[in-house]
Amino acid sequence: MSETWEGGCLCGDVRYRARGAPKWVAWCHCESCRRHSGAAAAAFAAFDEPDLETTRGAITRFASSPGMQRGFCARCGSTLTCQGGQRPGEVHLHVGSLDHPERLPPPTAQFFPEERLPWFPKDCVAPRAKPADAGSPGAG
Ligand SMILES: [Zn+2]
Ligand SMILES: [Zn+2]
Repeated sequence: MSETWEGGCLCGDVRYRARGAPKWVAWCHCESCRRHSGAAAAAFAAFDEPDLETTRGAITRFASSPGMQRGFCARCGSTLTCQGGQRPGEVHLHVGSLDHPERLPPPTAQFFPEERLPWFPKDCVAPRAKPADAGSPGAG
């Protein structure tokens, strides 16, 4: 009944499994996420820490600031996780590390929008579903 989300790094040394529905999916435009991922912005899916298990290898972690742990594969460098900081108890998966990120709902929030690159689409989030919109998927 519970959803599972499998994922891992590019070389396959690290594999993980997350359980349940993501708490949220969001973009982060902060410079730290940009540097760690090498991408113009990072997209994350959030889970509670106990709902993530490493099923192969180990996630190597780098403290980008006190209490902020950024996880990656020590062999191929793929960015995998971000945790700590202002959302203790959650682990944020880089959506590109999931086997099937297309199953995720689209991002509904942007963190650090003030650091968003000027050419990055401002409308990169789905409008929040309103009760009145229920039953009309795709409208608007
Ligand atoms: Zn790897
Ligand atoms: Zn960030």
